[in-house]
Amino acid sequence: MSRHLWFEDWTTIQDPNTAAEYAAFCTEEGCGARFIIKDGQAEAERWIFHHTRDTGHLHFWQTFGHAIVVGTPPGAVLASTLAAEHQRAEADRPPNWPPLEPARGTATLGKP
Ligand SMILES: [Zn+2]
Repeated sequence: MSRHLWFEDWTTIQDPNTAAEYAAFCTEEGCGARFIIKDGQAEAERWIFHHTRDTGHLHFWQTFGHAIVVGTPPGAVLASTLAAEHQRAEADRPPNWPPLEPARGTATLGKP
């Protein structure tokens, strides 16, 4: 069973439970050497340096990747809950009552 969530604002963040992956592939014709490591950018660069030192190969393809998770930005869940609560309170009022006014902030104090 899947559960669907919906909020107005979404964002993506790097998954804190998954390590980033660095990979380097030698692109010199006929070589095919490659190096892939989790959480090891310095090691990947060191492998490239050593491969060049040992073979004279100068061309590589380098990739970096990490898992992401989709979620709401900070505060969005609370804002969505408050908006839903306001709509529910508005719907529960008798139809001849005036609509609920938003809470008055300090910026409006002293104004008519
Ligand atoms: Zn190579």
